[in-house]
Amino acid sequence: MEKGFYAFGTMNYIRIDEPIETDLQNELINEVENLCNNLDDTFSIFKPDSEISLINKNAGIKAVKVSDETFMLLERAKFFSKKSNGAFDITISPIVKLWGFGEKEYKIPDQKTIIANKRLVNYKQLILNKNNHTVFLKRKGQSIDLGGIAKGYAVDVISNLLVTKGVTSGLLNFGGTISAIGRKTDGSLWKIGVQNPLDKRGISVGKVLLRDDILVTSGVNERFFVKNGIRYHHIINPKTCEPSQSKVLSVTAAGGCGMDLDGITTAMFVLGQVKGIKLAKKLGFEVLYLMDNGEIVATEGFANGKYKFTFK
Ligand code: AMP
Ligand code: MG
Repeated sequence: MEKGFYAFGTMNYIRIDEPIETDLQNELINEVENLCNNLDDTFSIFKPDSEISLINKNAGIKAVKVSDETFMLLERAKFFSKKSNGAFDITISPIVKLWGFGEKEYKIPDQKTIIANKRLVNYKQLILNKNNHTVFLKRKGQSIDLGGIAKGYAVDVISNLLVTKGVTSGLLNFGGTISAIGRKTDGSLWKIGVQNPLDKRGISVGKVLLRDDILVTSGVNERFFVKNGIRYHHIINPKTCEPSQSKVLSVTAAGGCGMDLDGITTAMFVLGQVKGIKLAKKLGFEVLYLMDNGEIVATEGFANGKYKFTFK
C-alpha cells in the first residue's frame, strides 16, 4: 500500500509491503502522517507557534526553551556548520527569504539588500545552552531555517517507528530523501534512481541498490527559477548569500542516519567537489557528486562498495 501526503514543504510518500494486512498498513500510514504533521508543527518556520518560529521571534530579545528533540537537531546542525567551516549554516534563513525560496515567490534581491542582510548569517551567534535547553539568536532580525536537515531527521523517526511496529518491507520517499526498509518482497534490494536534476522528474543517470539504509540528495532541482538563462536554486552559499555556484548539480549520500546525511549533502553542495569529498572522507560519509559537465565523482562506497552506483 502506498500513500502520499504533504509536510515539510514537499510531498512525502510511504509504501508498506510487509506485513501485508491492509488494516495494519492503513493504521501505520495514518500514524506516520500524524507524526510528520507534529514534526512539521515543531520545526516549520511558516507556522507561527512552532518552536523554531518562537526562537526566531525572540532573536536579539531572549532565549527560548525548546524540546529535547529540537535541541538535539540544532546541536547537530551547528556541528555540521563547524565541520564545514560555515558552508552549512541554518542562520541562512533571512537570505532564503530574500530570494523567496521558502514561499516559492522567487525574486533576485538587489546587492544592497544582500549586503545589509549578510551580517545576520552567522551560526556562531546561535547560542545553545546545554544545561537548560534554551536557544538564543544574538541579533535582532536573525532567524533559523531547518530546511537543510529536518527532513532527514523525520525520515529517521519514521523509519524507526515502522521497524519497531514490525514492518519488514517498505519504502519512504520524503521529497527525494529515501529510506529503504528491509528488502522488496521478492527478495531483491530496492533500486533507487539518482536523478539528473536537469532532466524531467523520474529520469535518472544511474541507480543505487539499497536495503535498511537511507539515501539523501541535495540538488538544483528542488526549488529553483531561471532568469535570463541563469538558474537560481535554493542552496545558498553563506559567504556570498547567493545560490551556490560550485558547478555541482547534486550531491547524494547514503548511510544509516538521515539527519546527518541531510546536513552533510547540503554542506557538500556548497563546499564543492574537492573540499566536499575531502570532508566526507574525514567524517566517514559516502557521497556522490554529479557535476554540471556530466562528470560523476564519488567516494569508495559508491564507486565499488556497499552503495555501488551503476549507470541506468
Ligand atoms: P537541502 O535540500 O537539504 O539541501 O536543503 C536546502 C534547504 O536548506 C533550502 O531550501 C533552505 O531552506 C536551507 N538552506 C539553504 N542553504 C543552506 C545552507 N548553506 N545551510 C543550511 N541550510 C541551507
Ligand atoms: Mg540537506
